[in-house]
Amino acid sequence: MARSAASIVEGIYEDVLRRNPAEEEFHQAVREVLDSLAPVLERHPEYAELKTIERICEPERQIIFRVPWTDDHGEVHINRGFRVEFNSALGPYKGGLRFHPSVYLGIVKFLGFEQIFKNALTGLPIGGGKGGADFDPKGRSDAEVMRFCQSFMTELYRHLGEHTDVPAGDIGVGSREIGYLFGQYKRITNRYESGVLTGKGLGWGGARVRTEATGYGAAFFASEMLSARGTSLEGRTVVVSGSGNVALYAVEKASQLGARVIACSDSGGFVVDEAGLDLEVLKQVKEVERGRLSSYAERVPSARHSTTGSVWEVPCEVAIPSATQNELDGDDAARLVRNGCIAVSEGANMPCTPEAVEVFREAGAAFGPGKAANAGGVATSALEMQQNASRDSWTFEHTEARLQQIMHDIHACCAQAAEEYGSPGDLVLGANISGFTRVAHAMHAHGII
Ligand code: GLU
Repeated sequence: MARSAASIVEGIYEDVLRRNPAEEEFHQAVREVLDSLAPVLERHPEYAELKTIERICEPERQIIFRVPWTDDHGEVHINRGFRVEFNSALGPYKGGLRFHPSVYLGIVKFLGFEQIFKNALTGLPIGGGKGGADFDPKGRSDAEVMRFCQSFMTELYRHLGEHTDVPAGDIGVGSREIGYLFGQYKRITNRYESGVLTGKGLGWGGARVRTEATGYGAAFFASEMLSARGTSLEGRTVVVSGSGNVALYAVEKASQLGARVIACSDSGGFVVDEAGLDLEVLKQVKEVERGRLSSYAERVPSARHSTTGSVWEVPCEVAIPSATQNELDGDDAARLVRNGCIAVSEGANMPCTPEAVEVFREAGAAFGPGKAANAGGVATSALEMQQNASRDSWTFEHTEARLQQIMHDIHACCAQAAEEYGSPGDLVLGANISGFTRVAHAMHAHGII
């Protein structure tokens, strides 16, 4: 007797566990996608025959390399660099680089795996990949960061190319790091290959709106989810976690859309400002001074800063978790729901634990998974690649309009897939199925590779 779709999926998961031991975050990301795919296998037995899911779970290529560098006192340090080229069915590998002490292969693989489906959802021709290093940029001088980036690129450059693999930023990698990485790539290859990295500075091949795109996109996605339920962000209280690039611009766009954003956080605590966060002060503290949120509270009288507890204790109607993976657990979710939260848009990658997602779904809150809700960043990276390829530069208005349309389309295709598979409104299911289907379709056409 033929095996049931559910048992095939279980078998695939067990295989992933066995082949990738001790990579918890990767297991979690795979589990979440596989949980949506049994009904797809029922309708498309060819994907079981051709082992499409098994092939997607195995990266096409994994690169691990030594990154030696010297600090300002002449001491030598060694870090480990990674690039996981996960899937190129839809285009060159595309995805950010994360510099953070927690980085190891399991984190890079979880991020790379998510990126495959996220990039597919954008509808743009980009495959999935991710990279990074266990380097901690905190407290390092500009010169140290530059030497680290140069050493990192001296190894990585041979794997990159505008048609091969195109990195960008992630946690710990912003426009400063992209600048140093680009400079070293250009020097080694003697090629001004603008499309090899995205997130570049505006004066040298970067795209308008790329900096803002992930946060703007997460706010647009929240607004799409609310409008599907006949309401909007207008007048809603919003809490955003984090205060990096994603969080700051989620605050900005949600406020522009009429919401009152009352709290955000960093690794030293969180700040609540019932009057609505003052974005100018926030940007000054976090972007210009690279300081702590406590100094926001010192400057804004209506704000209070807390070093204990969690930002998710602050009651809100809409939550945009934009810090890091697994930052919002089942208890946080239950408290948020009790306090009146009706929508969650994931600005970070996998910020809600599986238990938290379950709580939101059971409570009937709108839930936008990261691979859909935060896809605006990578989508705008693909727009940067388009501008680089045509040696053009678009206006802010035009680029933002494209971003908004892309977020609308992503929401629509997730909602439609959820409907088609009998679970209207389940955007987790919808995102997984529609992302998977696009990749599987292309892999099918390319043969067994
Ligand atoms: N790191 C971002 C993400 O998680 C952006 C990737 C990119 O622009 O390539 O999607």
